Amino acid sequence: MTTFTTTPIFYANGEPHLGHAYSGILADICHRYQRLAGHNDVLITGTDEHGKKIASTAEAHHTDIREFVDQKSAAFSALWRPLVIEPDVFVRTTDTYHKAHITEVWSRLLAKGDIYLGAYSGEYCVACEQYYSERDLNGRQCPVHGREVETISEPTYLFKLEHYRQSLLAYYHANPGVITPLHYQEAIIEQLEAGPLEDLSVSRINNNWGVEVPNDQEHTVYVWIDALFGYITAITSQDGSEQDIANTVHVLGKDILKFHALYWPCLLLALELPLPRKLVVHSWWTIEGEKISKSNPDTIVNPEVFAKRLTADGLRYALVRQKPLSRDGNVSLSEFIETVNADLANSFANLVKRNNTLITQYFAGHISQDNAIALDDECLLLLSSAEEYIQQAATAYQSFSPFEVTLALKQLLDETNGFFHHRSPWLMNKGKGSQHVRQTCFVVANIVRQIAIAISPITPILAQSVLSEFGLSLKTLKWESVAFTDEVNVTGAKSHFQRVK
Ligand SMILES: [Zn+2]
Repeated sequence: MTTFTTTPIFYANGEPHLGHAYSGILADICHRYQRLAGHNDVLITGTDEHGKKIASTAEAHHTDIREFVDQKSAAFSALWRPLVIEPDVFVRTTDTYHKAHITEVWSRLLAKGDIYLGAYSGEYCVACEQYYSERDLNGRQCPVHGREVETISEPTYLFKLEHYRQSLLAYYHANPGVITPLHYQEAIIEQLEAGPLEDLSVSRINNNWGVEVPNDQEHTVYVWIDALFGYITAITSQDGSEQDIANTVHVLGKDILKFHALYWPCLLLALELPLPRKLVVHSWWTIEGEKISKSNPDTIVNPEVFAKRLTADGLRYALVRQKPLSRDGNVSLSEFIETVNADLANSFANLVKRNNTLITQYFAGHISQDNAIALDDECLLLLSSAEEYIQQAATAYQSFSPFEVTLALKQLLDETNGFFHHRSPWLMNKGKGSQHVRQTCFVVANIVRQIAIAISPITPILAQSVLSEFGLSLKTLKWESVAFTDEVNVTGAKSHFQRVK
């Protein structure tokens, strides 16, 4: 089955930062797991390039708007390679194909009577490009930017949001977990239950940097509408259909939850399309407690610098190992380094190297269960414990909880290291019988091979490096390969992960 995983379609008015990298890494982990699970998963990302804010930022930089968005979009496109992310589709909302799609969707909504011309007056944050109701504001200040909102009144096209409120509410009640972590779904349910929704303003006047509203050149389509439909533009560019939104997982930050969990599904319902398979919502990384944000330069952390320091695997691992999706976390390079060294270098790579060294030295790289005779109780106990941890990791991937994946695998590594040290197979010629050593190395090799496959969505380079020594390639492996094997062949014993300084 073809499935789709998306990052947000990022707003191209600044340079990408660690927050964008985090969204991308989470989406890529989800994508790689889907592939490992046997789906033909397509990874979608892109840039949202319209709107007044971009036009005015370009102007402030004395740059032609087209040049400005080309440059920003290229910066987002270049973000992925150093993080070992290979998107299958990069959609740009300024592409002709996308604009034609927006025009077509608009016409359908208008024909159905879900969009009508009216007027809107409200409190507007220019930075968010969004109106706020009074209850969402902190006094007169935008809850995201902390800057004062402006009161704006203008003609606008409105989308009948309220018309779909009850259907959406019923859907969320009937499908717990369709937004994960669950408390984000509960928050949206609460909003939907709070009473009628105001119709959503879906066009802007006084902005010509956008998709023109068909037959009304004074208006351009609201950038958020433009951006959300970018997902479908991307899907259909890959021979998928609009219906494939049902096979799509959206990964997004909690600051854009409302757009994805409220506006987007109502628009899809209006078009009589299915709703997304899942929304995976993550909280923020903060610097000294402040959200990483383009509008707060002190918080800008260049992800490439981090990836150079920690390696791509190290950065990917640290970001998911340090906190669950639902909790904000403070970026601390020293903690990242500590985690990466403790888990990837010491617990994992070092164990693989020591065990593979023994297998190549003592057993010419080959051990099968036949010549290991019956495994002793300690071996059997660890193997059965490994099976449980690997199952926990699978369950965690399926529920989009990469943090829990790392917990399960780290516990398994700790137990395996304990086993290895307790049995001291390196003492073969100093009192440890060869059968004992053979069994120890056989069990450890079996387990590290399984861990390498199971961790591969998170640390693909390290995983492939380890698997290569077992003669395996991630290109052909499936999750089912994470199982006990009665024969291990090892071709080398190199250092798979250098300690980070
Ligand atoms: Zn704002």
